Amino acid sequence: MAKRGISILKGIEAKEVTELLNKAYCDEWLAYYQYFIESKVVKGIMKDAAIAELTQHAADELRHANMVADRILQLGGTPILDPKDWITHSNCDYDAPEDPNVLSILEQSIKGEQCAISTYSALADITRDKDIVTYDIVSQILADEVEHEEDLQALYDDIHEFIAEIKKNIQ
Ligand code: FE
Ligand code: FE
Ligand code: MG
Repeated sequence: MAKRGISILKGIEAKEVTELLNKAYCDEWLAYYQYFIESKVVKGIMKDAAIAELTQHAADELRHANMVADRILQLGGTPILDPKDWITHSNCDYDAPEDPNVLSILEQSIKGEQCAISTYSALADITRDKDIVTYDIVSQILADEVEHEEDLQALYDDIHEFIAEIKKNIQ
């Protein structure tokens, strides 16, 4: 634990920050696994485009888990050690992809990203002016989550439109 690095926190305890970061850390692992398994089971129209997006997002969520774990350690905390605690400590529920249809998978993932955006936006509000290093990290992650939502929504809309187009042509 680096003392000077922690001493620059203003009006917030390192413990409060690490507890919040640990919840986000659980979200990231669950998001990583959700994208990983979605990319394996997804079926249907334009699934290759979906697989490319889901695989890229899985890698991003794992990178976020890395960033959050490193910050927890810098603040003298311990990242959650046991995967069985991921669901109980997370902000965003894990949504198993029971329906492999590409549109259902994209809908579930969009919901997950919306939850992640709310989580990191709240973390940015809490740490702004108080813990500038965490603020910087959560802002970078927030920008990624906003991009994730947009990518998934754009793909969802494309597939939706494509299906509508096909239906129109076979009538
Ligand atoms: Fe993430
Ligand atoms: Fe994301
Ligand atoms: Mg993307």
